[in-house]
Amino acid sequence: MSLFITSLNSGSNGNAYYVGNHEEGILIDAGISCREIERRMTRLDLPMARLRAIFVSHEHSDHIQGVAVTAKKYRLPVYITADTLKQSRLPIENQLIVPFKPLEAVQVGALSISAFSKRHDACDPYSFMVRSAAVNVGIFTDIGSVCPELVRHFRECHAAFLEANYDEEMLAQGRYPAYLKSRIRGGMGHLSNRQALDLFLEHRSYYMSRLILSHLSEENNDPALVMDLFQKHAGAVEVVVASRHKETPVFEVRADADVLSKENKPCFTRSQLQLSLFQDIFPAGVQ
Ligand SMILES: [Zn+2]
Ligand SMILES: [Zn+2]
Repeated sequence: MSLFITSLNSGSNGNAYYVGNHEEGILIDAGISCREIERRMTRLDLPMARLRAIFVSHEHSDHIQGVAVTAKKYRLPVYITADTLKQSRLPIENQLIVPFKPLEAVQVGALSISAFSKRHDACDPYSFMVRSAAVNVGIFTDIGSVCPELVRHFRECHAAFLEANYDEEMLAQGRYPAYLKSRIRGGMGHLSNRQALDLFLEHRSYYMSRLILSHLSEENNDPALVMDLFQKHAGAVEVVVASRHKETPVFEVRADADVLSKENKPCFTRSQLQLSLFQDIFPAGVQ
């Protein structure tokens, strides 16, 4: 019933997110080298043999650097749209290429993966939802602004990787050139801490147990500042910040909260909810 999730790396230097169950797992993006993916999976006790597919969100290099080598070495199908494949110029064997369409679920073992369009300055960019039995995990990074589809999917999540790319003031005061600042905050670039927090506060489900803040800017953000911002409002949701330099622990996401009715929820204190509903394989912490 559970899904196991981890960020192998997150940020403009490389992104790779793992979602799996006891039998199979997938990568959403492989923006670090195959060797680093192997190293980090091994450290987390996740066998490479468990990988069944790589899904590519868009062609930016921080999402695709390790795709071709990893796919070739482990004979993994690469789910990628024709436009993204063309733009990325990834050297992938034809027999490993699998196109996907938005909002059409793809079945990989017991995992069901669906993509939906997002606002980002790439040719054909997507966010993903991974579902297994009653557990839903969203992978939402590289988002210029919040669209209705993102809201709809976020509301279904038991756990989500959510971009919190920049602090608005740090970006405004920072040393990036004006054109780059405009690109980042112009609606087709990245999500600010404030935008991510608004989405979280307004639309998280009552059963959400885990939020992994992702794709933080090195220059225009600060992990401690983001944690502070979110933790004040997190309630029973465990919040962690994904590192730009190493993997997070593996987090178990369970559906138990689904069996509670909304009416029953106020009967539980935060600590009771955490004890009974939310269990990590490893202790949580800021990465
Ligand atoms: Zn990116
Ligand atoms: Zn991007």
